[in-house]
Amino acid sequence: MVNLLPDAILNYLQTVTVNESPILRELHDETMTMSGANMQISAEQGQFMAFLVKLINAKRILEIGTYTGYSALVMAQALPDDGEVVTCDIDPKATSVAKRYWEKAGLSHRINLKLGPALETLASLASAGVEPFDVAFIDADKKPYPQYFEACYERVRTGGLIMIDNMLWDGKVADKEAVANDKSTGILHELNQRLTDDARVMTTLVPIRDGLLLCLKL
Ligand code: SAH
Ligand code: CA
Repeated sequence: MVNLLPDAILNYLQTVTVNESPILRELHDETMTMSGANMQISAEQGQFMAFLVKLINAKRILEIGTYTGYSALVMAQALPDDGEVVTCDIDPKATSVAKRYWEKAGLSHRINLKLGPALETLASLASAGVEPFDVAFIDADKKPYPQYFEACYERVRTGGLIMIDNMLWDGKVADKEAVANDKSTGILHELNQRLTDDARVMTTLVPIRDGLLLCLKL
């Protein structure tokens, strides 16, 4: 993935300005030995997301895309003890690593893993009438991102935050040819443009790691 910042500056951010717990660091390092490791969020992105969770006093978080559990854990650490992260994934192997680290961090009581296709889980949350969420984090397969956004919008309270990852898509969204020829790139570019113009939310695309689109539900 392209680094948006020069290496030395990224390294400064990650080493000087991030308080990463030893368990998160260990999880990061173990994940780096696995396939798909570059899908994991980075330390400074985790710090930023945890900051936002605290800033809006979140108690309930909905996550789409657990993988080995870094983002769920970094957000769970920022919740009050009766807070909850509901997180969705289809991969039993990656999420078994996640569960091991949540346990080790003593936070598995704050994290509720829903194994299965996210669109099905989101539909079942709706029919079960679960309480609204304060924050949603979308970070799974890219083609259903517009559907994930709508499902999260329905389940997040007014004044809540929907964070959407990989919205710079390695810079490809800024490349007209990639937008026209690559399906995921086209979908992500169209979503950036559409949500920016959507009166239901106020957005800002933060150029951290692969681009994090913040949508405040108005
Ligand atoms: N947020 C994670 C990274 C997520 S990677 C972190 O910070 O580490 C994307 C994840 O989406 C993968 O684990 C993949 O299994 C999952 N995924 C892909 N398609 C999915 C689907 N249809 N429903 C739920 N999860 C899906
Ligand atoms: Ca991601």
